[in-house]
Amino acid sequence: MPHIPQEIIEQIAAANDIVEVIGGYFPLKRMGGAFKALCPFHNERTPSFTVSSQRQRFKCFGCGASGSVIGFVMDYEHIEFVAAARKLAEKVNIKIPEAEMTQADYERADMRRRLLSLHAEAAEFFHMQLMRGNSADAARVYMKKRELTAEVAKSWKIGFAPDTWDGLLAPMRAAGYKENELAESGLFSTGEDGGRLYDRFRGRLMFPICNDTGEVIAFSGRVLNAEQSPAKYVNSPETILFTKGAVLFGLHKSKRALIDAKQAIVCEGQVDLITAFESGVQNVIAPQGTAFTDRQARILKRYVEEVVLCFDADAAGEKAAERSLPQLLGEGLLVRVLAMPPGEDPDSLIRKEGAEAFRARIAAAKDFFDHQIERQAGSADFGTPRGKIAAARKLAEFIACIPDGIAREAVLSNAATRIEASTHDLRVLVRRVPQRQPGGDGEPAVQERAQPVALDPTKEWLALVALRSQAARAWLQAQASERVLDDGQPDSELLVKILDAEFRVDEPASVNAWLSTLDSAEEAALSSVLEMDAPQDAQVVAEDCWHELERRVILRRRQSVEAQLRAPGLALEDMARLHEQVLSFQREAAALQAPRAPRPPA
Ligand SMILES: [Zn+2]
Repeated sequence: MPHIPQEIIEQIAAANDIVEVIGGYFPLKRMGGAFKALCPFHNERTPSFTVSSQRQRFKCFGCGASGSVIGFVMDYEHIEFVAAARKLAEKVNIKIPEAEMTQADYERADMRRRLLSLHAEAAEFFHMQLMRGNSADAARVYMKKRELTAEVAKSWKIGFAPDTWDGLLAPMRAAGYKENELAESGLFSTGEDGGRLYDRFRGRLMFPICNDTGEVIAFSGRVLNAEQSPAKYVNSPETILFTKGAVLFGLHKSKRALIDAKQAIVCEGQVDLITAFESGVQNVIAPQGTAFTDRQARILKRYVEEVVLCFDADAAGEKAAERSLPQLLGEGLLVRVLAMPPGEDPDSLIRKEGAEAFRARIAAAKDFFDHQIERQAGSADFGTPRGKIAAARKLAEFIACIPDGIAREAVLSNAATRIEASTHDLRVLVRRVPQRQPGGDGEPAVQERAQPVALDPTKEWLALVALRSQAARAWLQAQASERVLDDGQPDSELLVKILDAEFRVDEPASVNAWLSTLDSAEEAALSSVLEMDAPQDAQVVAEDCWHELERRVILRRRQSVEAQLRAPGLALEDMARLHEQVLSFQREAAALQAPRAPRPPA
């Protein structure tokens, strides 16, 4: 349970509009009264993730994920309640009294905050080194050679890590960062003697890696002279800020352009991406060296429908593109490929030919399957039966990745014709391809969602009016709930919690703040209750449903007395007393008013 006072949680929820917060992570489309997007919590092709501005809640009709603005940040960022509340609080400058958090909560949230601040300072330090540092001459020469201007360096906060052991360490220590913070940041390595820190990045051109809200969470360091070091790029290790395979380089800047173009141009290197972006081709991202992960492909699918892969003309480039295919096709993205002329990359090509020519190349980029077929058909042994089978097998591997049946069949029949195979034979090969297991890239599996607490229909109506109507709520609170709701059922306990809570029904932030204190099974149950509108005659519904529960209590007690009556060898006076009880239960039940409202459908 959170250790933040309820009224502060309410303030945080009220000050953070859910549409704005979720819209900051990925685009939402207005549809009627709600906002929609592809669900970030499960794999889908048509949007069933809905955000209601009026109710300040989100709900996915596909996987059942639902919650408030704080719940969303928890689920999306995989952080705990307190961390999510803190993050949102910082956004709107609300101070959380530290004493209200447990030590562990505080330390974790604080470490995140400190590491973000350390990364921001490190980015600034590296950048200043590049612009003015005495030891950065070679780096500035390199920048000049790559035609990266000071303005570009400033815009992307490109920097230089001095070639010393404590170039960054000394100033960060002086700035007051503690040893454990420095050690957790990934910016420093530890000596084998156990514990002595030194700079991880030395003598490298530094590219800050940002999360999609633009905060620096890691670095990629490029060596200036490729002969100097076997590792052309060194990236930060995984930290509490940075998960490899979950970040796309450049996304914080290219988001808008991706949405507008519905297309992402994928560059291999940071410099390619920066050059393209600065030349006006802004719908670009880079997966950072490696092939796409499922997670990156899923992030991309939220912005675009089509991906254009730019890769080197050599075999290595071809392989790199192919490695990304299963992930991209698996997300239902259309994939085209732009094979660079030999020896060129997007950076050199744009400088040589200009952005317009590059755009024309993008527009003319071939569909991945056409490209593959041509490649296969062009190979030397394609004329032989063995060569044809090899080509068909290779194509089948990729065709099997297409999740949509109709699209798969269309590609399949086209490919069969082109390689002069029968559709049937190719289909057999496709079926033989083993099913790919998505998420094998260290991505946490989508969290199991708690089964919602099952609500009896009568109690569901009571929950609804108690959450939505102040008058009905007050009336219900005045009833003797111990007598009616002490049956130990989870839905009764939930109803008691609703009636005990101190929220205001007309303020979504207040209701949501309280909801977020429930366990997930309870919150999930009430989320679907809150999908309904309050009945107009809430007061009448409250009374009717309450009387129904009272009748049930009386019935249960009567049944228990009747069971006692059936016991053999009962003394006459006991029998008379029990009969009297049965009669009084019957009178009590009859005295309860019959339902007046037409019974709401369950
Ligand atoms: Zn979903």
